Amino acid sequence: MEEAFGPALPQVRKVVTEIPGPKSRALAERRAAAVSAALGAAVPIYADRAGGGVVIDVDGNSFIDMAAGIAVTNVGNCAPLVAERVTEQVHRLTHTCFMVAGYEPYIAVCEKLNELTPGDHEKRSALFNSGAEAVENAIKVARAFTGRHAVVVFEHAYHGRTNLTMGMTAKNMPYKESFGPFAPEVYRVPTSYPLRDGLTGAEAAERSLKRVEFEVGAHNVAALMIEPVKGEGGFIVPADGFLPALQEWCTANGVVFVADEIQTGFGRTGKWFACEHEGVVPDVITTAKGIAGGFPLAAVTGRPDIMDAVHVGGLGGTYGGNPVACAAALGAIQTMQDEDLAARAVRIGEIIGQKLADLQGKTDVIAEVRGRGAMMAIEFTEPGTLTPKTDLPKAVAAACAQQGVMILTAGTYGNVIRLLPPLVIGDDLLGEAMDILCEAILAEAG
Ligand SMILES: *Cc1c(COP(=O)(O)O)cnc(C)c1O
Repeated sequence: MEEAFGPALPQVRKVVTEIPGPKSRALAERRAAAVSAALGAAVPIYADRAGGGVVIDVDGNSFIDMAAGIAVTNVGNCAPLVAERVTEQVHRLTHTCFMVAGYEPYIAVCEKLNELTPGDHEKRSALFNSGAEAVENAIKVARAFTGRHAVVVFEHAYHGRTNLTMGMTAKNMPYKESFGPFAPEVYRVPTSYPLRDGLTGAEAAERSLKRVEFEVGAHNVAALMIEPVKGEGGFIVPADGFLPALQEWCTANGVVFVADEIQTGFGRTGKWFACEHEGVVPDVITTAKGIAGGFPLAAVTGRPDIMDAVHVGGLGGTYGGNPVACAAALGAIQTMQDEDLAARAVRIGEIIGQKLADLQGKTDVIAEVRGRGAMMAIEFTEPGTLTPKTDLPKAVAAACAQQGVMILTAGTYGNVIRLLPPLVIGDDLLGEAMDILCEAILAEAG
């Protein structure tokens, strides 16, 4: 039988060995002897092939993919147009460094980003390798533009693992523990977390912004950065009006409003970008993850006066906007447009929402089901309280892995399960994954 690849892989869940199987266990042994123990692993298996809604491991087990490599393979693994553009590009030009000699795919990606990101004003973009690098560069740009130093971030935020972005990230374990000191001039204020603060968007914004005014001083703030839906923090959707109020305050105070859409972007929440749910137009937006179908690429996109405020040569990097990664992005973006994957994300959200609504009637450990589109989460608490049930998500994820479903956890308190399937997953496969997840929750909740 000829081997299948990408979306041609059989779209079925199939567990043919114990999990992890013998080949995965052998790789785990090699890994322990060769790879730093500092790297974690959400599932104990080693991937061989993937496509559509499945990941097949080295033992032939076929997992339903509810992670998409952390919201990266929105178009699916090995998406045909991505593979085609990459193959073509890899034979034509693999690297010059954009600052040595430019190339067309870089410009084409910037044109696409300028067109697709919120707001129909003129924009400029710059490309980088990772989300954290995009965040760092957004802050460089905002500081150069404003001549100010302070950066305002929020509770439960995640912005990356480099020094500056660790400082901007809220959660200590595992991201920050033992890695300080962190960069100065980063100020954290409360966010809007409707389940836990009960505030309206306007009230939560006032609380956050008063804090900035009294403890930092608006005139000292270069940038205010926020994820429109918190990612690692637990898919926290702010109350209506919170984001618009922040944006208005930024405009009134000459502060650069930066939306970190690294996890929420590219159709994930049912729109191209999550800011669009509230008509918010950020001054600057950072993107990565879903941008290039699995290839390392990230971007900063913003108003020309802001993006061009940096001196020539002030931004860059050896690999940023690599031609192959750019070709992948063009293939991925074309796929999202052709297949209207944002609409598909809405449908995925409906299927997940229905299954979880049924589940909520059967257990009292679910404090909230929330999210937007194909970015849904379940927050667990001790019954009748807001006390986080911290051990449950890990146990549920492990039980799901045993049955061939890949599930991720999240949350500052580790009490959240987050669902991030590829946007090309089939309805039946998704339904099957949700049934297994729901059963595992009921079993583990006791
Ligand atoms: C993943 C993530 C980052 C960091 O991206 P990397 O590519 O891992 O550096 C930053 N911000 C958000 C919102 C993210 O989800």
